[in-house]
Amino acid sequence: MSHLIVHQFPCLNDNYGFLLHAPETGETAAIDTPEVAPILRELEDKGWTLTHILNTHHHFDHAGGNQELKTRTGCTIIGPKDEADKIPGIDRAVGDGDEVLFGGQSARVIGVPGHTAGHIAYHFGSQNLAFVGDTLFALGCGRLFEGTPAQMWTSLQKLIALPDETVVYCAHEYTQANARFALSVEPDNDALHERARQIDEKRRKGQPTVPTTIGLEKSTNPFLRPSSGDLQRTIGLEGADLVDVFAKTRALKDNF
Ligand code: ZN
Ligand code: FE
Repeated sequence: MSHLIVHQFPCLNDNYGFLLHAPETGETAAIDTPEVAPILRELEDKGWTLTHILNTHHHFDHAGGNQELKTRTGCTIIGPKDEADKIPGIDRAVGDGDEVLFGGQSARVIGVPGHTAGHIAYHFGSQNLAFVGDTLFALGCGRLFEGTPAQMWTSLQKLIALPDETVVYCAHEYTQANARFALSVEPDNDALHERARQIDEKRRKGQPTVPTTIGLEKSTNPFLRPSSGDLQRTIGLEGADLVDVFAKTRALKDNF
């Protein structure tokens, strides 16, 4: 079976750029366009030609490079239909349940509103890959700029439902700070303590902590664990509704 190559590299202060390449068809997609220069440099370095941009949401550090990259390469831009008016150069608008064909593979679009109103994720099921933008981070989740806690919790549950082995590409390197917060709200989670040690080690060596996996996030990410007794006790919401636990966890992180 053919397979897609993911090439990851830093952009801006703490973003990651991703190029998705299909050796069989020669197609290459940029997942979001945080910064033009590094994307062009990595394309040239790999000898790849940009054919697609797959946007997750409209923020400048995700769609800011669209127009220039399209002008230079003539690539096709696919992005979220519920915020299509804010996606520069968009050619095809997609939403929850839609299918995107790329490189002989199919990605399912998952609607994950919360960080922005129309945020989407791309799940390449046959490749066990998901690009989740600013919805799910390693040990964190996106800030609720345009959505409610209930919306975001519903969105995160869609991601939790993916297979544990799904490799998750999130758009920022926020993991070390996220780990400090996670430990403060779930202090008795042994898997989290172990993971925090591994994260510190990686960052000391200047290595990325992205990608992660759904399985790893389910066992250690407090935003996916509102049913954790440890979390509920620590934040004073024992037995509360899961949406309320999620909402308070998010609010505590906003002020951490
Ligand atoms: Zn964003
Ligand atoms: Fe971002």
